[in-house]
Amino acid sequence: MLCVVLALLTFLKKIKMKGFFDIKPKQKPTAPRRVLPSKTLSCAECGLIKGCIHPKMEVTGEGRKKVLFIGEAPGEKEDQKGVQFIGPAGKELRYYLEENGFDLDRDGYKINAVNCRPPENRTPTTLEINACRKRWKNAIKTLEIEKVILLGGVACESFFGQRIEDSGTIGKWIKWKIPDQDYGVWVYPNYHPSYLLHNKDEVIKDIFKTNLQKALNHSVPFPKHEENIHCIYDVEKAIPLLERISRKRPRLLAFDYEATGIKPHCKGHKILSLSLCFSEDKAYAMPLFENGFFLDLWQDILEDPQIKKTAHNMKFESTWTRELLGYDIRGWAIDTMISSHVLDNRSGITSLKFQSYVNFGIVGYEKEMDFFKKGTKPGEDPKSANKFNRMDEAPLDKLLLYNGRDSLYEFKLAKKHLPLIKNNEGYKLFHNGILSFDRMEDIGWLIDEGYYEKVKNKMNSSQEQLENSISTSKEAMLWKKKKRTPLNFNSTPQLRELFFEILDFKSTKKTNKGKGDNAAMDKEVLTQLSTKSKIAKSLIELKKNKVLVDKIKAYQRESVNGIIHPSYNLHIPATFRSSCNNPNQQNNPKRDEESRKIIRSGIIPRKGHLLVARDFKGVEVSTGCFYHKDPVMIDYCSDSSKDMHRDQASKLFFLSNEEVMENKKTVRHFAKNMFVFPQFYGDYYESCAKSMWEAADETVLKSGIPLIQHLEDNGIRDYFDFEDHVKAEENYFWNKKFKKYTQWKEDTLDEYYCNGYTDLLTGFRCWGPMKKNEVINYRVQGTAFHLLLWSIIEIEKEFILGKWNTKIIGQIHDDVLFDVNPEEFEDLIKLTDEIETKKIRKHWDWINVPLGVETEISNVNGNWYKMEEYKEKSKNYL
Ligand code: URA
Repeated sequence: MLCVVLALLTFLKKIKMKGFFDIKPKQKPTAPRRVLPSKTLSCAECGLIKGCIHPKMEVTGEGRKKVLFIGEAPGEKEDQKGVQFIGPAGKELRYYLEENGFDLDRDGYKINAVNCRPPENRTPTTLEINACRKRWKNAIKTLEIEKVILLGGVACESFFGQRIEDSGTIGKWIKWKIPDQDYGVWVYPNYHPSYLLHNKDEVIKDIFKTNLQKALNHSVPFPKHEENIHCIYDVEKAIPLLERISRKRPRLLAFDYEATGIKPHCKGHKILSLSLCFSEDKAYAMPLFENGFFLDLWQDILEDPQIKKTAHNMKFESTWTRELLGYDIRGWAIDTMISSHVLDNRSGITSLKFQSYVNFGIVGYEKEMDFFKKGTKPGEDPKSANKFNRMDEAPLDKLLLYNGRDSLYEFKLAKKHLPLIKNNEGYKLFHNGILSFDRMEDIGWLIDEGYYEKVKNKMNSSQEQLENSISTSKEAMLWKKKKRTPLNFNSTPQLRELFFEILDFKSTKKTNKGKGDNAAMDKEVLTQLSTKSKIAKSLIELKKNKVLVDKIKAYQRESVNGIIHPSYNLHIPATFRSSCNNPNQQNNPKRDEESRKIIRSGIIPRKGHLLVARDFKGVEVSTGCFYHKDPVMIDYCSDSSKDMHRDQASKLFFLSNEEVMENKKTVRHFAKNMFVFPQFYGDYYESCAKSMWEAADETVLKSGIPLIQHLEDNGIRDYFDFEDHVKAEENYFWNKKFKKYTQWKEDTLDEYYCNGYTDLLTGFRCWGPMKKNEVINYRVQGTAFHLLLWSIIEIEKEFILGKWNTKIIGQIHDDVLFDVNPEEFEDLIKLTDEIETKKIRKHWDWINVPLGVETEISNVNGNWYKMEEYKEKSKNYL
């Protein structure tokens, strides 16, 4: 009897311990496997075979060193002789190979992504590439290839195309040495040699040369990857593991969650599973058991600062833990998504899947989960970052395996990156920055939902009116008569045809997007057309209306209980600035007053609070001084009585300083925004002269004299005279006034051409290839943002220490936005002044000009539109 009772008790205890997930999965995956189109095409489907002399060109070469070169397609010469790389591109390739003692024909094998010559040497199509893929695959297998050198974008598309979703362009592949596990070969993507023939950029040549050399000399044995993922389905087995981790405190712990969405704020979201990895050969994955003991242990681990943690996008793990488990994670060692970006600023390379492939050769393990992870639960808005995915429908074994792999590769990547980012100031800044952004996102922006709904409805009805008036306009009638179908005013080609063919207006601007030399149909063109056609004006209004409605819809979509939580990222722009999405708060309308009013009026502070915006004044000009140290510019930035834009306007428009200031909103504004800044960012006199002339044409000076007339009185008879004048000004600006600045630009470019990269004072490195302007601008733009980011981190630290009620809610370009408790307002100004203008100069002693910050404040319970400049002690604001 006792035995029976004991057995019963044990059984009951087990049941009690069991959580939601303790059922072992039996079922097979029910959802369709989402794979990339992988149909193997036949030669006949491609058709190139018909037009060439040597079709289906076989691999050539003796291959003594087991290296296979994959090119694009045979050229004319190759087709005549039936041998790859014997034309001009081949000559170029052979030249660089010989420099390394490598004989292409003896030591290597050669094949092309497409092995029949395309007519006129045109770029092969994706269909042709797909139809020919099996040829190099065969070659790798039968010839026991050890290294594959991919030459150019077509070879990359062929090699990666059907395995990697966004295989992108050659730019993101170059420089990696990939131990491809599918084919068991090392892969080295490089530029196509014909690209070097057509491109004079020395940095590109250098990258090609160095890359080739590294590939040929690379002698690391091929690392065969073994994967050991231990899936735990039983909480009783999970608990001892967590206990062991808690007790032993591994030196590095990678962990990863699978959850029901991207953002955790909507009710009902869940963390479904977690995975852990603390050695390179094994990862563990388990459901997040709803078991008190298990959850306590998990909390102990996450709160233990001695257990150093890593994740790929730690902001995700951090937010979900805070929101659903109620505490903050401590002891972050590295975020591999941020380190991937800091170590290499190219775009499109920071995802874990991409990094797992280029570093460990693992590809496609996410495919089976795409349906669940990218899927949307019925009834959910697929565009919303608050939506529920279908991960909870995934078979548990698949979910855990996938989850385990994530933390395994995160761990491996962290081990690889940790020594590389040691003492890296840039990484440190971004590490702390992303944690501050995480807290900022969690606080979020309060929105007035009723206001937005009302405005949206109003705008929807004015949209209808506008559409009506366009559809019934005489222009639309004319179209209908000619084309016998109604005008589709959302179609740019139709509008182009209407304005420039049917109505025969002159096109003034071309678009350079896409093929052909099409007439542009942007706001500028429509504004010009609006003097001749009424519907042009309506079209501008309609477009503006749509942009605003979309913006409001994005707010509504992202709002949870009246709060939006925009995501701030530090892993995207090549300039090492931040970016924002869901919704993007950095692209709110700024210049158009009406749009600004509509959007900003609905952003409000917490009850009884006010909004405060702090803006680093002219920060990019000041940042330039840290680099070029030009004495004239430093003087401008240090002496508040001096004004560079006023001085420039005075010279450009033949006015005294007093006259310029009387016409501040016109001539000073023109000089600043159409000459000085464009010059800094690499524009040149012709386009500056053009925009200033157009602006001058519409300007009357305060004295009553039209600006054009005034220019004429000063010897400028026509536009060409003005252009000459601006050219002379440009010459003076760079070669006399800011001589040292010019010298710095030249030195920076020389250094870049020599090194292939350019460094920021804040510890970041921007890699080539870059355009000339980028080399100069990235340093300044990135650094200017870093001043702001550093300030945010420091202010936030003080907020936490002092348990402030005031919070940072957003970063928009050079602005930080605060939700402020009025009682803390004075202290906030003191604190931010101290940090942003004084402490920062101690931290970075290369700051050589005073930093100014402008403050704008709303009323208590006001909104983001009604902000006024705050001038200390001049008024009682609260
Ligand atoms: N370019 C290629 O890509 N392949 C050749 O065979 C020759 C030129």
